[in-house]
Amino acid sequence: METSEEGITVQNRQPKPKWLRVKLPTGESYKKVREIVSEHKLHTICESGNCPNMGECWGEGTATFMILGNVCTRSCGFCNVATGRPEAVDVFEPARVAQSVSLMKVKHCVITSVDRDDLADGGSEIWAQTVNSIRRKSPETTLETLIPDFMGKWENLQRIIDVKPEVVSHNLETVRRLTKQVRIQAKYDRSLEVLLRLKQAGLRTKSGVMLGLGETEDEILETIDDLISVQVDILTLGQYLQPSPKHLPVSEFVTPERFEKYREIALAKGFKYVESGPLVRSSYHAEKHLF
Ligand code: SF4
Repeated sequence: METSEEGITVQNRQPKPKWLRVKLPTGESYKKVREIVSEHKLHTICESGNCPNMGECWGEGTATFMILGNVCTRSCGFCNVATGRPEAVDVFEPARVAQSVSLMKVKHCVITSVDRDDLADGGSEIWAQTVNSIRRKSPETTLETLIPDFMGKWENLQRIIDVKPEVVSHNLETVRRLTKQVRIQAKYDRSLEVLLRLKQAGLRTKSGVMLGLGETEDEILETIDDLISVQVDILTLGQYLQPSPKHLPVSEFVTPERFEKYREIALAKGFKYVESGPLVRSSYHAEKHLF
């Protein structure tokens, strides 16, 4: 064990249990997605997040595009996206993403972004333009937007509401007690308010929580209740994996059986759809969340 400058305890990385081992990505469809992503200079959260599902998702032609650059103004302890001062907004990005979605013939498209707290609009204009561009070029494609909290500037959230994505997700990421450590600049209650406002606007909402960061079972159940209290429709629960030794350590590898137990509890409490398992990520099997 050692301690980082921020005072966060960093453990030596634990070996992964067998249920987290996945095959390396291969195959023609995977290669095609990779070519389109690099040719159009796109950013994907699949790569930035070292997602273990790339072989499966990219092999099926699904990828989660990350807009507004690849440098984030926040420094969450779990996230592998670079923190710093982002470059100027690229006004051609919405068209490039739309072109790629069309080339890839994506049926259901997930878009996310870095946080752009440096911009007055929080990046919401580019968000809206991206959704509109995809709709113009691929009218059959359905959309999930995985959005930031816009620092509670509700006029920016309104731009997302106005373009009415089929699913809008905003991740709580962790339980209330750990939020300050895991999502340093975020607030648990502000995220709940984002989700409530989306629901009050009549949208289908979704949220994700990572397990294995040191939360207790009671805290997980409390988080499930909090998400139900703001009428979230879809819940994803997955295992946190430490992207590098600089990131928060994994405190526990939650077994597939416990994930299944939480899935059953969450469904009984009223979620319409629950994806819960060690390899689940917010955008995993996203096409199923349209119901
Ligand atoms: S689960 Fe999401 S982030 Fe991971 S590869 Fe699939 S689409 Fe990308």
